[in-house]
Amino acid sequence: MMIKIFDAFLNAVFPRRCSYCGKTVKPGMSCCDDCAVSLPRIEGEICRKCGREKKCCSCRNAEKYYDGLAAPFYFTGNVRKGIHAYKFRRWRTSAEAFGGEMAKTVRSRFESVDFDFIISVPLTDKSRRERGYNQCELLADELSRHLGIEHKKDILVKIYETRKQHTISSVFRKGNLSGVFEVNNPAEVEGKTILLVDDISTTGETFNECSKMLWLYGAESVYCVSVALTPKKK
Ligand SMILES: [Zn+2]
Ligand SMILES: [Zn+2]
Repeated sequence: MMIKIFDAFLNAVFPRRCSYCGKTVKPGMSCCDDCAVSLPRIEGEICRKCGREKKCCSCRNAEKYYDGLAAPFYFTGNVRKGIHAYKFRRWRTSAEAFGGEMAKTVRSRFESVDFDFIISVPLTDKSRRERGYNQCELLADELSRHLGIEHKKDILVKIYETRKQHTISSVFRKGNLSGVFEVNNPAEVEGKTILLVDDISTTGETFNECSKMLWLYGAESVYCVSVALTPKKK
């Protein structure tokens, strides 16, 4: 009884919000009725290499160091709004909601894969200190809880800061990330099947660069999952 009253009190003071549009929702909910039916989901026939619907895929024969990439959503509309709010306000309910969606995606698209552990795309120590947390780590924690797969921290490190991928033109993007990531403990990576987590993927270059480092240290295979992917410009 006391707990129920306390919950009701908390909900009155800090109402639960939809993780996407921000509208107030009933206790226990993380998505409003409107968003539930209108979110930009990636569905139908999907390309395993870029994670987008085949009609939006333009990856052709591009070589990748990862074995698959998937995301529940396109980075547009209320998904975009929700991820921005999450990055800046760190809503716990959003991490739960996004983690749950990513778990469903991993279960359906990488159904036959037996993962050894989960890791997340790292920030530099400096950025992590400034921000106080790594938003991808929190997502990986939620994903780990849903899938029952261990989330290992400190395997990948980001050595230095780079310009944000979306602020530079695509010809410079590859070079921008080269040598930015390093594997801390190679022995943990060798022969392993790894699930790598990021919040948003635009070109897939961050995933590819992290996967390259894991591959160089002998990872058996790497699969990538993010909350959302930018719809590809042709
Ligand atoms: Zn909503
Ligand atoms: Zn593709």
